Amino acid sequence: MEHYSRISDIREDLFSGKVTCTDLVKYYLKNIEEKSHLNAFLEVWGDEALLRAAEIDGKVKAGNAGRLAGTVIALKDNLSYKNHKVSASSKILEGFESLYSATVVERLLAEDAIFIGRTNCDEFAMGASNENSAYGLVKNAANESKVPGGSSGGSAVAVQARMAHCSLGSDTGGSIRQPAAFCGLYGLKPTYGLISRWGLLAYASSFDQIGPMAHSLEDTVLLTEIMAGKDEHDATMLQQESPEFKELQAPTKVKFAVMRDAVEGEGIAADVKQKMLNLIAALEKDGHEVSYFDFPLLEYMVPVYYVLTTAEASSNLSRYSGMLYGYRSENATDLESTYVKSRTEGFGAEVKRRIMLGTFVLSSDQYDAYYEKAQKVRRVIQQETDKILAGADAILLPTTSTAAFGIGEKAANPVAMYMADLLTVQANLAGNPAISIPAGNNQEQLPIGVQLMTGRGEEQQLFDISKLIANTLATI
Ligand code: GLN
Repeated sequence: MEHYSRISDIREDLFSGKVTCTDLVKYYLKNIEEKSHLNAFLEVWGDEALLRAAEIDGKVKAGNAGRLAGTVIALKDNLSYKNHKVSASSKILEGFESLYSATVVERLLAEDAIFIGRTNCDEFAMGASNENSAYGLVKNAANESKVPGGSSGGSAVAVQARMAHCSLGSDTGGSIRQPAAFCGLYGLKPTYGLISRWGLLAYASSFDQIGPMAHSLEDTVLLTEIMAGKDEHDATMLQQESPEFKELQAPTKVKFAVMRDAVEGEGIAADVKQKMLNLIAALEKDGHEVSYFDFPLLEYMVPVYYVLTTAEASSNLSRYSGMLYGYRSENATDLESTYVKSRTEGFGAEVKRRIMLGTFVLSSDQYDAYYEKAQKVRRVIQQETDKILAGADAILLPTTSTAAFGIGEKAANPVAMYMADLLTVQANLAGNPAISIPAGNNQEQLPIGVQLMTGRGEEQQLFDISKLIANTLATI
């Protein structure tokens, strides 16, 4: 089977009869079987995908197939798909089945996408390595001793190792972009409110966004367009119709703002720094303007992110009480012990740590010192980000400060793991769209990702400039 990197190529072959949806599903199912040791999938919906493939092959013949005919998608295990299991990789939701589908799932189905299974992730999307899953870690297909990134690690590896054409992830502080960077893919965190969160198992609602992971920019744009647009089920959405993106055009003169510490800072690995410097030199040579800026708020970003997201998580996860659905301890004897034992046994260590941190920062004694202060700093980070973007078209920075790190390397040190989010949380704190663009491999053959951020609602500009970056990366 050809290694398709664009949906448009699949469609061309589908409509000329060179390939069928059934062939495609069989190909991915074979890869899933051969690569099961990577542990990217928690469940594979093989028979159902084959049935749907046959149905869509019929539509192709009849000439009424949707825009995603032939597109096989893997779903992160925190997205609801009616009558299918969803667990957020947590024991607390073991056996739970969705009663309705996420809006994004419905919109993709309406265009004839085929869902092939649900992918492993960090429990409740809390993590940066996919080592926090109740169902085991995921291995990076580029080097199986390395993590794939997290929390959408299974979604990244599913695409990287061709077990699905593309996938969906969720990004609260980098969970789409960071695994995309570690696995050599495109990954988009859209503007907050562009894509409905209805049917996403919430982690931190004022940060969470759903987005695509794909081999090509073109597919990233198409999937975004199909998923975006107002939805009455999600009150935090921008009340606008889905943008119709124009054909991508690499702009001829762009003003880039580069955060100095994100390139020259001491935590930035030599290979990442070199990639950025080569890219910047090539952009300047082509007549683009690159100016460096200092961002004194950088050191506050990760702490502010963790104060606010743990606070929101402690509230969002209170619904998992052992009462209404999901796991209930067999050792409980009364109401109180049902809550305590179900939660103690059902949640993993990282989730419990965050619930406790979040409960602490929201407690009446600590609220002003932590939660309220962090809200204020969040606003300042947003204002400063806006100021930089008022004088530039895009912020350019690496997605991560290193390529994929080793399995077990940071697992025992939560602070080191949290620092892996240093370069991705700004977009979530400020609500801006940001994309990770694959920038080739380092000497160890591990992928590196370059990140771009534009103003809120400026996805078209983000995609156009991404095309320029991809073109330029291909020349260095
Ligand atoms: N690594 C970050 C965290 O653990 C980001 C997770 C995410 O974006 N879901 O919170």
